[in-house]
Amino acid sequence: MNSTVKDCKPHWSELPPTWRYVIGTAMQAGELVLKLGCVGAIATSTWVMVDKETNETWGDRFRKVSAVAEAVVGFYDDDFKALISKGDVIAGYTVNSGFGLRMHPIHQEMRMHSGIDLPTPEGVQVHAIGYAGDRVSVRCWSDPKGYGTVADMTSSAFPEITFRAAHLSHCKGGEHRAGAVVAKTGNTGGSTGAHLHWEQIQGGVAQAPQKGYLVWALNGRKPNERLGDTISLYQAIVAKESGGDHTAVNPDTGALGLGQVMPQNLNCSWDGKPKSNCGWDYDVLGRDVSPQEFLQNPEIQQQIVGVKLESALQRQIQAGHDMNTAVKRVAAEWYSGNPELAYDTRPQAGYESIKSYADSAAEKFHRLRQQNLEK
Ligand SMILES: [Zn+2]
Repeated sequence: MNSTVKDCKPHWSELPPTWRYVIGTAMQAGELVLKLGCVGAIATSTWVMVDKETNETWGDRFRKVSAVAEAVVGFYDDDFKALISKGDVIAGYTVNSGFGLRMHPIHQEMRMHSGIDLPTPEGVQVHAIGYAGDRVSVRCWSDPKGYGTVADMTSSAFPEITFRAAHLSHCKGGEHRAGAVVAKTGNTGGSTGAHLHWEQIQGGVAQAPQKGYLVWALNGRKPNERLGDTISLYQAIVAKESGGDHTAVNPDTGALGLGQVMPQNLNCSWDGKPKSNCGWDYDVLGRDVSPQEFLQNPEIQQQIVGVKLESALQRQIQAGHDMNTAVKRVAAEWYSGNPELAYDTRPQAGYESIKSYADSAAEKFHRLRQQNLEK
């Protein structure tokens, strides 16, 4: 580092916890930050330490990784508080009925729907919501003509909220640790198919449920808790796809930028016709981005690729895969469109096999993750 450190603002202790976590775990820079007690120094300094493997300075890398972290954190923090609506995808499942007045599917009359419905296969695990060390109490009860088997859950982390899961195939009452499996989805009571009916009750009244808690219940972890993993996965995929070149275009496929995103994923032109209000750009940014704009803007790429990788990872973890398998499956999906092909050894028209891609992405992921954690 070749600059003098002065006007060090903000101080480490003034940063929000998320940022301390990101900086502390994501970067070797973290160690230096702690020593200096100063974060502004990193953003403004000319950094001359160079990483041998990637040839980038730590200053560059810090700024890049920060942008990804910021995008992912921003997206998921907003997302946590968002009210769940019909059509939302939660842990890989799509909400088919929202909170509020609706035509009742069995009784065929307008009724208040005091929760949301999430169709799932039978047996999907519902976890106790809370931070490590929290106590979560679950009361199981039965309403054969209505809710079927029900779990009412309260956590010492949010004593003012009762979470209700209904139509369950299984419920385990009593005191649990945060993260424990307390119920499984099913098709009991007045139900037309396996689904989870989910309520968030505050002050004795059902409120419109918030996304973050339901994701938490289904994944067993608070959304965002794996931020360090997401960043490592992002780094591994970008290293394989573009080597960090945000202007890279694949001459064979037209894939674009850092994560080599197919243009069709942006403009939904899989049938040859581009569509508006559609695609990964619309999902993540809420607007359509042309392939040209995408290619010129590394921040947009970081946001879209970071969020898409995080949601792909969430899906695999929720499906019960361990982290290593989940990463391989996400890599296979990123490379081929199909996570089931993670062990496919056939060469891909001049490119490496899907297994070879997935294995080497996972290897990079573990190495980066270790580096990120050590420092
Ligand atoms: Zn319902």
